[in-house]
Amino acid sequence: MNVAIDGPAGAGKSTIAKLVAKKLGLVYVDTGAMYRAVAIYLLDSGIDVNDKAAVAEKCKGANVDIKYEDGIQNVYLNGTNVTGRLREEAVGNTASVTSPVPEVRAQIFSLQRGLAERGGVIMDGRDIGTVVMPDADVKIYLTASSEVRATRRVKELQEKGEAANFEEIKRDIEERDHRDMTREISPLKQADDAILVDTSDMTIDQVVEKICSLCK
Ligand code: C5P
Repeated sequence: MNVAIDGPAGAGKSTIAKLVAKKLGLVYVDTGAMYRAVAIYLLDSGIDVNDKAAVAEKCKGANVDIKYEDGIQNVYLNGTNVTGRLREEAVGNTASVTSPVPEVRAQIFSLQRGLAERGGVIMDGRDIGTVVMPDADVKIYLTASSEVRATRRVKELQEKGEAANFEEIKRDIEERDHRDMTREISPLKQADDAILVDTSDMTIDQVVEKICSLCK
């Protein structure tokens, strides 16, 4: 069985997908992490990440690989484990600026397809149900209001002891939604056969239960 989970930033996709993976014995594949790894490469290279031509050329040097160690997805960029840097705010924001570039998407599409073809995956992202696994057995579109998503992110940052400004985080989330939903290639949208799950007023356990029941 393959399960696709798409949705906007901060909807809880990775938290939920990890828990569902454990319950159903599936492998969790975080595709945002792949775009984030490319973003790290582009940021470190010092190019202007808004320059599409420069991104298209430069990204060819980013070799992203995924390894599962103790059941956890580790992301390697040109042989170096970059998992610890993936969740930085700058990396997530840059990933949403560079992910619309066709060369960036092509770079990691085969990695995603290879994992999907092995089967038994729960994969989350923006275009999983629409482009990467259009044949997935279960498709979920997971969302929540931008207020709720920003509140969750602020809490997450505060728990890590990092400074977090609600208004700034909410603005970044809304800008990312806009970029991800309006881009030409693989925009974020609910697949026709995806089930909408709005987690604004749901607990994590409720969402996990709902998705597991949809997978039966
Ligand atoms: O899900 P996450 O926040 O880690 O994704 C980072 C960025 O990568 C997203 O804002 C989006 O632009 C891009 N992405 C994508 N397609 C996916 C997964 C992520 O374009 N399947």
